[in-house]
Amino acid sequence: MNIILLGAPGAGKGTQAEKICEHLNIPTISTGNIIREALRSGTEMGKKAQSYLDEGKLVPDEVVIGIVQERLAQDDCKNGFVLDGFPRTIPQAEALDHMGVVIDKVIDIQVADEDVIQRMSGRRICEKCGASYHMQYNKPQVEGVCDKCAGTLVQRKDDHPDTVKERLKVYHEQTEPLEEYYQKKGKLVIVKGQEDVKDTTRLTLAALEV
Ligand code: ADP
Ligand code: ZN
Repeated sequence: MNIILLGAPGAGKGTQAEKICEHLNIPTISTGNIIREALRSGTEMGKKAQSYLDEGKLVPDEVVIGIVQERLAQDDCKNGFVLDGFPRTIPQAEALDHMGVVIDKVIDIQVADEDVIQRMSGRRICEKCGASYHMQYNKPQVEGVCDKCAGTLVQRKDDHPDTVKERLKVYHEQTEPLEEYYQKKGKLVIVKGQEDVKDTTRLTLAALEV
């Protein structure tokens, strides 16, 4: 199954993407993680992306489209994949169509702006492997330490409140129109984000059966 996860920053796309990929045994492609990884390892692409990320802006379409095209061409995507954080603009969605990629389902995780702002302040990510946690809703077993790799958990620079507000603005202007885009194609399934991550996961996995 080829799946897109849509939703505001901080809606919990990344967490749900992991659950779906465990459930269906398909890879997750997170453009945010790929870009942050490029940043950490200091590649040319990472250097270009840095200022966009820090300001809460989107990285230019041609850059992310290139990343996704390359990633989807790899063998492990043959039996399906979960796209987390892509597409984020109409031109990105059109690029997928032009690549001949057929999407089965677009799961739209909806969370109110106020909740996003509150959640982001508690979000922490593993400095080493990029896994995502929340100090209230999705705690690691040991505070400040990654369950998966024992790396240190840190707050993302773009999770600071002012940047979050900018990211929400960008989301409403550039990403939200994708709801209608996929609604028209009959692919959109809405999942209301719940306070407890486990409840959202239950609804997300149920949405795969619709
Ligand atoms: P979130 O979903 O919490 O906003 P992500 O980790 O998905 O965070 O993305 C972080 C940042 O990476 C975005 O704010 C943006 O700058 C960049 N980015 C990720 N995916 C895309 C994309 N599809 N198009 C443009 N920029 C992107
Ligand atoms: Zn880790």
